[in-house]
Amino acid sequence: TNAEKDADVLHIVHATAEMAPIAKVGGLGDVVTGLARACLARGHKVDVMLPFYECIQRHDINDLELISTYDSYFNGDWIRTNAYKGVVSGIPVILIEPSNNFFKGQSVYGGSYNELEAYLFFSRACLEWMQVTGTQPDIIHVHEWQIGSLPLLYWDMYHQLSLQKPRIVLTIHNMEHYGECSQEQLSKCGLDGSVYATEDKAVDDRTIGHNPERLSLLKGGIVYSNAVVTVSPTYLKETICSGWLASTLIRNREKYSGILNGIDTAMWNPAADVFLPAKFDADKIEGKRICKQFVQRGLGLGLEGTDFGHGQVPLVICITRLVAQKGLHLITHAIQQVEKLGGQMIVLGRAPDGRVEREFEGLANVHNKGSSIRILLMYSEELSHMLYAAADMVLVPSMYEPCGLAQMIGMRYGAVPVVRKTGGLADTVFDIDDKSQPEMANGFVFEGIDQGSLDSALNRAFSYYREKQDEWKATVQKVMRVDNSWNKTAGKYIDVYNSVRVKW
Ligand code: ADP
Repeated sequence: TNAEKDADVLHIVHATAEMAPIAKVGGLGDVVTGLARACLARGHKVDVMLPFYECIQRHDINDLELISTYDSYFNGDWIRTNAYKGVVSGIPVILIEPSNNFFKGQSVYGGSYNELEAYLFFSRACLEWMQVTGTQPDIIHVHEWQIGSLPLLYWDMYHQLSLQKPRIVLTIHNMEHYGECSQEQLSKCGLDGSVYATEDKAVDDRTIGHNPERLSLLKGGIVYSNAVVTVSPTYLKETICSGWLASTLIRNREKYSGILNGIDTAMWNPAADVFLPAKFDADKIEGKRICKQFVQRGLGLGLEGTDFGHGQVPLVICITRLVAQKGLHLITHAIQQVEKLGGQMIVLGRAPDGRVEREFEGLANVHNKGSSIRILLMYSEELSHMLYAAADMVLVPSMYEPCGLAQMIGMRYGAVPVVRKTGGLADTVFDIDDKSQPEMANGFVFEGIDQGSLDSALNRAFSYYREKQDEWKATVQKVMRVDNSWNKTAGKYIDVYNSVRVKW
């Protein structure tokens, strides 16, 4: 790419539990890949360290090769560990493969090993690998609770040994996952767990009387990192004003910032997307109609009135993990409301919780026989691309949403967002009927968590679609031109890296 190069070249190593597309469960995987690619394009050296999950397909990694075999400590043993290097979508990766049962199983999460202990092991194994290979990046960029012990291990162990140069940046993608950990478990990675059992360190603030037996790896990571980033300015405010980490974040306010995620515009590009039956962009939008008809035909939805901009049947999509955060009661209500309004709706999602899965299976049994609703309980990258391209509207009714990628991806593919005003959704979607900033207007926004609030936004979107066809088409083109790319925001991360790194 022809991105501008930064003057000071940094070496950045990400340590993460997910990376798209080889080990992606949600937005975390997209963010790591998109940010790494954007920093590479600006001339930096970037590596991504990832557990070598058994479910990763080896043929999805280019130039895979074993680079080191070493021992990393866990629970009184030194575990023989392989480090491989390879390339994934142009990004150098280092895959850590212990010889015990950690990371074995059919999926990224949910194997039969102890997840917390596996990530404690992985966090230390990343540092151990840097030590044995003499790798000293400027920045170790850690993500989420999974890697929350790495900053502790760095400052209290490896920095006392041979690693001097690196500084640590933590990105919090979702504060609901806090990495609950006992002192004893933390001690398994070689630290003295009792040292961290104070309120200013890692004690879980949600426990009654600050129970010193319960620690949070996420909180420890915040305290021990040089800089902490969360994924949107509004989520930053929300997490400082309320929530279990508020007091910790206020204490660490000067090193805490909010940087909106971007989307990877190479991976998400309707003008060159291999998954689409027809390509399109904001100037040549006709291909979108073909994508809509393709999806309608493929899923057996009604084909009536599909002329772009003159259709009577708006197609709404909702692509999401089916968990409480995402507003499950509003998703189920939207299915009814869209049907009532004479539209079509496709839900693509996987429910990690069996009870939720059964509820949606029940809905699928009722609705999937008809011609207007499809509920697809699976994970499919390919289908997600086709649905974004086919959709007239993308629905994101989250209860809270640190950043949210679905609305940004949807916009890039010409789907007008209908969202609840929270977190990153509030930073990226601006209501069409809000006359205070018409140049920003790009979607339909509601605030309440009740069905009526959702209905008011959905009803307005449907009327707009049906009654103001020219304006609708102009809005589709406008949302496609909104720049939510990493090219726009990666520079803010570079600023954070530069603010903490040590000139060597
Ligand atoms: P979160 O990180 O909370 O899951 P985001 O909106 O930040 O939410 O990111 C979700 C990402 O995962 C998007 O790229 C979305 O398209 C994708 N995704 C979610 N569920 C599915 C699914 N069932 N099939 C394919 N992609 C999915």
